[in-house]
Amino acid sequence: MLRRVLLAASGSSRLRRLIMSAPQTRAIVDSYVAGETADDAVRVTRTLRASGLLVTLDYLGEDTTDEAQAAAVTSEYVELLGKLSAEGLTQRGATEVSVKPTAVGLTLGGSLARQNIVHIATAAREAGTTVTLDAEHYEVVEPTLRLAASLREEFGDLGCVIQACLRRSEADCRSLAGHGTRVRLCKGAYSEPDSVAYVARRDVDLSYARCLKVLMNGSGYPMLATHDPRLIEIAGAAAILTGRGPDSFEYQMLYGIRPAEQRRLAGTGARMRVYVPYGGDWYAYLVRRLAERPGNLALFLRSLGSRS
Ligand SMILES: Cc1cc2nc3c(=O)[nH]c(=O)nc-3n(C[C@H](O)[C@H](O)[C@H](O)COP(=O)(O)OP(=O)(O)OC[C@H]3O[C@@H](n4cnc5c(N)ncnc54)[C@H](O)[C@@H]3O)c2cc1C
Repeated sequence: MLRRVLLAASGSSRLRRLIMSAPQTRAIVDSYVAGETADDAVRVTRTLRASGLLVTLDYLGEDTTDEAQAAAVTSEYVELLGKLSAEGLTQRGATEVSVKPTAVGLTLGGSLARQNIVHIATAAREAGTTVTLDAEHYEVVEPTLRLAASLREEFGDLGCVIQACLRRSEADCRSLAGHGTRVRLCKGAYSEPDSVAYVARRDVDLSYARCLKVLMNGSGYPMLATHDPRLIEIAGAAAILTGRGPDSFEYQMLYGIRPAEQRRLAGTGARMRVYVPYGGDWYAYLVRRLAERPGNLALFLRSLGSRS
């Protein structure tokens, strides 16, 4: 219930203004977000790479409402990839980028999002790395998967994301498990109705385990995005059962969450990628993280309270 209320708050512009202007929220934001600029993102990437972790960078922002903004987001990614490449951080996909299709114009119609993603994917290819298209709210899941499928004809290594909370996802995993497709599996960060999504935590976890099994049995490249210790254990067991070597799949976690576990997994020889968001538009991302970890909410509300 609390999660649903918080996720609804992620769309409130009044709350957004209040929270984004509260200086005391900075400490919490800093624990989840690398900073505001591409240089901040590169600095954090350098540190993570030095400890043997792979990285995917997300320029924060979503639901872009005009073409100019979508173009600005695209340019930001292209410049970021240039900076990362100049520092030798991108070779063999060591640092890639995650792009939200709605941030580059998916809901603006036409082929705008496609053109923008082609720009980013071309820059990524030149830098020796890849792009993954994030999954967002349910209305854009189908258009995103269709777009990813068509872009894979040109960029075979373009990754997409499946949200285990959705009832359709096991079938989506089956159709994606072949052809070397890079698929990130996550639980899903958006509040969706019972008609299309599992709502109970246990049902989402069971769906995750089923999807994981399908992907690990397939011939693609699974990217298992979760902080859940039980699911990480299941992933390890599935790798043994399916005979997958450590280079044939990866674990993924969010920046600032379970960093010791991230280093432990990397220390076992596993590929461990950290999803690092940066940029000034952190509100919706922060609220989704708080919704997952109500313990942090008390700290957050105290910081807002101390403002007045
Ligand atoms: C790399 C990555 C990329 C993602 N991309 C997308 C995307 O494109 N679209 C989308 O909808 N969602 C995305 N997500 C978010 C995802 O859908 C979940 O909302 C989020 O990861 C929380 O789910 P969880 O699997 O960690 O499980 P949860 O059920 O939230 O947590 C399970 C367990 O993990 C541990 N844990 C969780 N958080 C913490 C913490 N802060 N500190 C310590 N332990 C913790 C606890 O043991 C907890 O019980 C992504 C997540 C990751 C890791």
